[in-house]
Amino acid sequence: MDCIFCKIINKEIPSKIIYEDDHVILFEDINPQAPFHALALPKVHIPTILELKPEHSVYLYKVVETIAKVMKEKGYSEDGFRVVLNTNRAAGQTVFHIHFHVLAGRLLMWPPG
Ligand code: AMP
Ligand code: ZN
Repeated sequence: MDCIFCKIINKEIPSKIIYEDDHVILFEDINPQAPFHALALPKVHIPTILELKPEHSVYLYKVVETIAKVMKEKGYSEDGFRVVLNTNRAAGQTVFHIHFHVLAGRLLMWPPG
């Protein structure tokens, strides 16, 4: 499948992996927008949340659970962090495999641009 994130999951493209298990992978964003910027994604190809099905539940739960665990371990949970999921063109989605941006390490403005 011609999906850059599936290729990262399958180790056809290198990435700086922070955590992975059977359902989830979390790796560093190649173009970081904060001192900590990771992408957390399910190890199943779902283009956007618009295609989400009940059988994906365990994957999505584990992605969010992993984000919480990693951010606690890295010491970002008390100050806080941001999780962003861009969907389709107006939100700037460029890779069509569901991924959560996880940003931390600086004050994050609201509303985002
Ligand atoms: P989005 O615009 O929400 O679809 O985000 C796609 C993100 O993937 C961007 O922040 C890119 O910097 C990031 N990205 C693209 N290719 C790679 C790669 N090979 N390794 C790590 N991050 C990537
Ligand atoms: Zn994919």
